Amino acid sequence: MLPAAVATWRHVEETARRVVESFGYAEIRLPLLEYTDLFRRSIGEVTDIVEKEMYTFDDRNGESLTLRPEATAGVVRAGITNGLLYNQRQKLWTSGPMFRYEKPQQGRYRQFHQIDVEALGYPGPDVDAELILMCARLWRELGVSRVSLEINSLGDPETRLSYRRALVDYFAAAKARLDEDSLRRLVQNPLRILDSKNPDIEELVAGAPVMLDYLDADSAQHFDELKALLDAAQLSYTVNPRLVRGLDYYNRTVFEWVTDALGSQGAVCSGGRYDGLVEQLGGRAVAAIGCAIGVERLVALFEICGNSAALREPDVYIVTVGAAALRRGLELAETLRDALPALKFEMNLGDGSFKTQLKRADKSGAACALILGETEVRENCASLKPLRSAEDQVSVPFERLKTVLETFIPKSA
Ligand code: ATP
Ligand code: MG
Repeated sequence: MLPAAVATWRHVEETARRVVESFGYAEIRLPLLEYTDLFRRSIGEVTDIVEKEMYTFDDRNGESLTLRPEATAGVVRAGITNGLLYNQRQKLWTSGPMFRYEKPQQGRYRQFHQIDVEALGYPGPDVDAELILMCARLWRELGVSRVSLEINSLGDPETRLSYRRALVDYFAAAKARLDEDSLRRLVQNPLRILDSKNPDIEELVAGAPVMLDYLDADSAQHFDELKALLDAAQLSYTVNPRLVRGLDYYNRTVFEWVTDALGSQGAVCSGGRYDGLVEQLGGRAVAAIGCAIGVERLVALFEICGNSAALREPDVYIVTVGAAALRRGLELAETLRDALPALKFEMNLGDGSFKTQLKRADKSGAACALILGETEVRENCASLKPLRSAEDQVSVPFERLKTVLETFIPKSA
């Protein structure tokens, strides 16, 4: 990731951090490696991630480790082993690289980045609504449009079981039309057929029974309340009954922010409730919800929407001619860095003629050059040469440089 890209990334990441923390989430930092078993048990054996996307290897002890494909499992593991979930609620966020062995393409990489937000100990639906509103706020603050919200409810585990039976009946009756992947899923994880991206079975999938018809009463009420909260906040959404999500630990609310601007890799942020996961991994029963933002996709969308973040260029470029001026210049730069911490001072390094140095100054993007030659050193002053306007060069005594730069570059004050 080259410096020009990093400027945009930093803007996006810093905005996300500011927004997320303004909602009371605290940062947690997690290892990139976990025991493989953690992901098998949480994400589920019959999922794309565990079946074919994990970077798994045995370490020198013969212990199976995996580069994390997502962050939720690690957050829950850390919460349990550190007692963070014992009679306490936690609002946590984290970010960093995730690893999945996928077919690399636009918007789909083997090392990609997520910003991950998790609320543990919150049964909702208030937190569900707030998490979604927080995403919407982030899009607004970034100037990102062209995203829409899809929500669904997966109900409780019993809902899933009865729905699963209905799906198996439906797809088994149409076995001849299923592709190889779907046939395998029919036995192991029929819900995942709904997630199929194969256009040949699109029509079949469209006619399948709908999860929402099988919802248990409590989940239905939870979902109704979530919708009412989103309505009250005037946030528009579509209920997408086909939204099942690729990880096994989800229940009740699931959602996805999708865009039509990124081709087939349209999911920018995905999340949902995982009320059973903490207990399943050995903790107490703790209701929870979380979501993950795909940073590559968010950055791409940020740019498509016409936004950019400036590379932070130096403000002042210091040109020195002669050995005495260089010595004085280094000293002066240090004094000015102390005096004006908001500004960036770049010294000309590696000599160069006056003309060469001025060219470098111009190319650096600095607002002005401070020029020190023999005369200036003798007279304890520097020549300030504006680089972005036709204003005249002026001679400024060293002791007035701070004040003059403060007026010349307003952000320095
Ligand atoms: P998809 O359906 O695109 O494969 P997913 O359901 O596997 O997504 P999640 O596990 O929910 O994705 O991850 C959350 C977010 O992380 C996604 O919405 C997406 O923005 C991003 N993401 C997932 N996989 C990748 C990848 N390989 N490269 C880049 N971003 C990704
Ligand atoms: Mg995937």
